Amino acid sequence: MRIGLGGIWQETNTFAPQVTTLEDFRRYQLFEGPELVSALAGTGTELGGAIGAARFHRVEPVGLLFGAALPAGTVDRAAFETMLAAVVERARHGPVLDGLVLSLHGAMVVDGHPDPEAEIVAVLRDALGSLPIGVTLDYHANAGERLAGLADVLCGYRSYPHTDMAERGAEALEAVLRMVRSGRRPRTHLVKLPLLTVPHAQEDAAEPMRSILAAAEALRAEPGVWAASALPGFAYAETDRLGFAVYVAADYRAEELARELAATVWERRAEFAAPLVDPDQAAAAVTQGAGPVVLVDVADNVGGGSPGDGTAMLHALARQRVSGAVAVLWDPGAVDRIFGVTGDAVVVQAGGHSDPAMGPPFLAEGRVRRYDGVTYLRSGSYMRGQRVDMGRVAVVQAPIGEIVLTERRVVPFDDDHLAAVEVRPRQARAIVAKGAIAWKAAFGPYCARSIYVRTPGYCPAAVDQLPYRDRPTPLYPLDQDPVWEAALVKSLRPTD
Ligand SMILES: [Zn+2]
Repeated sequence: MRIGLGGIWQETNTFAPQVTTLEDFRRYQLFEGPELVSALAGTGTELGGAIGAARFHRVEPVGLLFGAALPAGTVDRAAFETMLAAVVERARHGPVLDGLVLSLHGAMVVDGHPDPEAEIVAVLRDALGSLPIGVTLDYHANAGERLAGLADVLCGYRSYPHTDMAERGAEALEAVLRMVRSGRRPRTHLVKLPLLTVPHAQEDAAEPMRSILAAAEALRAEPGVWAASALPGFAYAETDRLGFAVYVAADYRAEELARELAATVWERRAEFAAPLVDPDQAAAAVTQGAGPVVLVDVADNVGGGSPGDGTAMLHALARQRVSGAVAVLWDPGAVDRIFGVTGDAVVVQAGGHSDPAMGPPFLAEGRVRRYDGVTYLRSGSYMRGQRVDMGRVAVVQAPIGEIVLTERRVVPFDDDHLAAVEVRPRQARAIVAKGAIAWKAAFGPYCARSIYVRTPGYCPAAVDQLPYRDRPTPLYPLDQDPVWEAALVKSLRPTD
């Protein structure tokens, strides 16, 4: 038996300025054919998990094409169409396939393709007929009804920080295998809730997601249930698929169970409010008590598509005379200037080049260490084994602490990116993390505490700061009206 593996994976922040091109996929992850299998086998990725499960069940994994890019702005139309054509071409003209496992994010936005993930599945269905298709989705997927109707099973992550990608890939492969062997398919149902939530209110270990994920877990224990997901979604995208989604695949009662879970989510909606502290107050708090303190620069979340060169937190640290901090800034221009001069002391304007609203450039002055062409393998729980390329890196020992300037954007999902340039976050007084929750996989085990800071950026923690022009209505908490809210509760409750 042969199962085809592929996918196109990106979380798109439509408010972010950088367009995502084919070059961005090439730089991050782009594998075709047998190279896909050899590159991803043994990694903590969705397709790594699917390959492991395929081998365990003595099924042949056939690599089609997998492309992934870092979260950023809208994906270029030609990039998407080129990759999709290659997936279809390989699926059609290679060995005959019995099923497919696709690794999709679920919150991708492509210029000219309003629901790209559903389109990937639709195009493959057209090309290959009715073979079983299993899809893995990110916790932040803006999943819609069309995708749920086209795929035979959706397996959404159950963790945030995300640490279960390989397990979900294995789960999707095993579900496809079961369909091939039994000839049966589950019924599926997706409920889209008019509920917008921000990443830092979606942590798996904190309420309300802790209870919601436990309710999904309880559903999966019911007889005949193949998959059940609670997907909070991704607010930073102008798309008609915005909002929380709940999904169940089951032999029977899929709709009833999905509505039951959706009602539980809706009851907890007010608990997704997310408190924040002003930058100067946060910086001042660092000087009291034990460290390291993680200063969560939540709006400049690189993993949410923000550029990663916002300086608001650094200026606050300087104003409050904090020392011993560690901060990473994406600034290829500053790296270039530092590599263009000799000597181990520099003065350079760092960051603040993407958007003046995210803070003016920060004057980084001090001794410098230069690193040429830094790559590392992720060793933590996020996509373990994945290779990351930071480009050239300069570390400036400034009065506030070590400022790590990188040529490529870096997500703080591990602390390997700091170890690679001899920075020791465990000994820092403060770590500026440009993320929402994912940083916990890296710094969570040893940080003393964390403070969520009200910084400017493309992933604000208050959704009313986002300039939506054309979003679905109503959406809680942007729209509130007791009449439709009551009607919704009624419609979510199972009728029988
Ligand atoms: Zn995610």
